[in-house]
Amino acid sequence: MRLDKFICKSTELNRKHASDCIERAEVSVNGEVITDVRFQVHESNEVRYKGQRLVARPSRYIMLHKPIHTLSSNVDGDYPSLFRCIDIDRVEDLHIVGRLDADTTGLVLLTDDGRWSFDIIRPDKQCAKTYRVMLRDPIAGDVAADVIARFEAGLQLQNEQALTLPAKLEIVAPREVLLTITEGKYHQVKRMFAAVGNRVIGLHREQIGDLSLDLKVGEWRYLSDTEVKRLS
Ligand code: URA
Repeated sequence: MRLDKFICKSTELNRKHASDCIERAEVSVNGEVITDVRFQVHESNEVRYKGQRLVARPSRYIMLHKPIHTLSSNVDGDYPSLFRCIDIDRVEDLHIVGRLDADTTGLVLLTDDGRWSFDIIRPDKQCAKTYRVMLRDPIAGDVAADVIARFEAGLQLQNEQALTLPAKLEIVAPREVLLTITEGKYHQVKRMFAAVGNRVIGLHREQIGDLSLDLKVGEWRYLSDTEVKRLS
């Protein structure tokens, strides 16, 4: 990780103050004074600030059950930020791994480990996300097989060149389905149903990879080491 980030993760300094200290030649790595804030440090490196050895705080990995009408953003806007559900120190260091719309509920992951989140959302990883979708129009009878096949074959979304990747659609009830997708395009689920002439009236993310939401609305918990490893 970058030296300025390492200083933030091991002291109470913010990014600006960490950069100032580095530029003032107060930081050494393996005995050598480093003044470049972008210098890359590894866990095994001995980093000292004003002579004192620094140890980075461990990264945090969190699952949240996002309530409706909260924003996947670090700041409040038309609705409160979902970060208001999480009452821990340095909550501002966390970022969201795959945002949900304000009117979508369900599983959100949060972390301060950029490499881990990138590993989950990077397109070639094709990490599966499962959504429970409530629909305006029923999918039933002969139509059902056709709609399932269209989702499997790939849909043409407005303003997109490529078809969507194969998606799995399971009909739970005429107006309730489970959809599993491996991409994360903007408003993807709503646009997929719009592409088949339907409309999403309720959307809830139940699963990311093999991690299922097991919390009540607004609750959060840390992921176990096993869960963290399984996702990346
Ligand atoms: N697809 C959407 O349309 N909205 C979400 O919040 C998530 C996926």
